[in-house]
Amino acid sequence: MNISSSEVIYALNALLGEGGILESSQDMSRYAVDWAGDRLGSPLAVARPRTTEEVAGIVEFCHRHRVPMVAQGGHTGLVGGALPDAEQPELVISLERLNQIREIDPLNFTLSVDSGCVLQTVKDVAAEHECDFPLSLGAQGSCQIGGNVATNAGGLNVLRYGMMRQLVLGLEVVLPDGRIWNGMRALHKDNRGYDLKQLFIGAEGTLGIITGVVLKLFPQPQETRTALVAVPDVFAALGLYALARRSCCELLSAFELIPRACLELAFEAAPDLPDPLETPAPFYVLLEITASGPVDLEAMIEHLFDSGMQAGQVLDGVLASSDAQAARLWRIREAMVEGQQLHGEHLRTDIALPISTLGNFFNEANRAMAAISPQTTVIAYGHLGDGNLHFNLLPPAELDLTAKRVLLHALETELFAIVEDYQGSISAEHGIGRTKQTAFLDGLSELERELISDLKQLFDPDNLMAAGRILPRVTDPAIHYQPQE
Ligand SMILES: Cc1cc2nc3c(=O)[nH]c(=O)nc-3n(C[C@H](O)[C@H](O)[C@H](O)COP(=O)(O)OP(=O)(O)OC[C@H]3O[C@@H](n4cnc5c(N)ncnc54)[C@H](O)[C@@H]3O)c2cc1C
Repeated sequence: MNISSSEVIYALNALLGEGGILESSQDMSRYAVDWAGDRLGSPLAVARPRTTEEVAGIVEFCHRHRVPMVAQGGHTGLVGGALPDAEQPELVISLERLNQIREIDPLNFTLSVDSGCVLQTVKDVAAEHECDFPLSLGAQGSCQIGGNVATNAGGLNVLRYGMMRQLVLGLEVVLPDGRIWNGMRALHKDNRGYDLKQLFIGAEGTLGIITGVVLKLFPQPQETRTALVAVPDVFAALGLYALARRSCCELLSAFELIPRACLELAFEAAPDLPDPLETPAPFYVLLEITASGPVDLEAMIEHLFDSGMQAGQVLDGVLASSDAQAARLWRIREAMVEGQQLHGEHLRTDIALPISTLGNFFNEANRAMAAISPQTTVIAYGHLGDGNLHFNLLPPAELDLTAKRVLLHALETELFAIVEDYQGSISAEHGIGRTKQTAFLDGLSELERELISDLKQLFDPDNLMAAGRILPRVTDPAIHYQPQE
């Protein structure tokens, strides 16, 4: 940085006007702590642009004066990406005021928005036009479209609609030197050479700041059926999944695996939630089918239940008979995440495996965790239909914070080694950020590390934008990254 912090604040105040810059520690506090409250950052200041041109102005200024910067959306990311560094203060560029709906075209099934629009707002706008924007996740009331693009978010309906990468048709991006790339095209097919927007999707803000997004919409479902099914084990859940994929085809929009321990966590967080079935079961599947046209979903799901019962995969089940009952079933899925938060610092993962290997992986990983720490509770649930598990670990409550962190690190290392053995991924959804960096780099080939490093160099040679996310702070991993033995 070739300029003082107060000079940065003075210049950006002039650029953004009243309310554009926050600088007191009280005003900046919510931008300086991550969603879980586990980590604290130390922002240089928080800039809150309202337009793409203002974002470009800030970034050009930072580029000229070598000021480190990081984009922040709804700040719900789970790998510390949007959190400003604690040691080398970064300018937080919050997109919260860049939040206008630009254009909806229901015939083209597209919606163009500023990147700071909250996901729930986007879903509501789509619904007002009898369309559906299908990205659904627990943080949808706070996370922003730009953050969803930057993390290539997944969520509950990936099975049917794909991840964010499949839902983006166009992007507008401010590059690390302040130039604006306008790729806001609303085309369903466009095969002209390199698809530049894909570089920014999932790049976690390391290659540019997303300011506008053209989203792909779908017909609004007219009918939905939601069911919770009790199953004896993960293998039975997989068998039921195979049946559901074939008998419900592409109408299957969610297939979530929930162990009993997760239900108990949900009841901790939301004691008024009723136990959905009379007899507790070791595992449950929460599934949903939706249709926009005249399809007999009831018959479809009953056929699935019957086939599952005959195959010994289904022990019991409840089919929601009203929207309220369906919402209560989905509330379990939400509350169990809140329940984990009540247990303080724990390990959150978002691993992916080939679906066919999930049963064996599940058993092997459970055994390996118990061998290291029998008192640690495994909370492994997730988007089974995508091969994506949140294999989370609650350490023994009596350990102090340092001991918990040491234990969780050892467990994570072992877990990721097993994931590697199964040719899986250490991140299916949340990205790499700062917390998964070592494991990510360990899993890359030398050529992959070189290509990724070259890409970052091309866009951001001074490493000023989101430095230390995905790649180490200094961008030549060949020199600065030491693979673990
Ligand atoms: C309760 C809960 C449930 C969740 N469920 C899911 C789930 O089911 N599936 C899933 O995939 N994820 C899930 N997540 C995590 C998910 O990554 C985020 O919720 C969301 O995608 C991040 O959006 P955000 O606006 O909060 O981004 P932030 O947290 O603000 O930022 C995330 C990353 O993107 C970058 N970024 C943000 N905005 C921009 C921008 N405009 N341009 C460039 N870079 C930007 C940041 O620098 C950071 O690296 C969940 C999180 C929570 C708290």
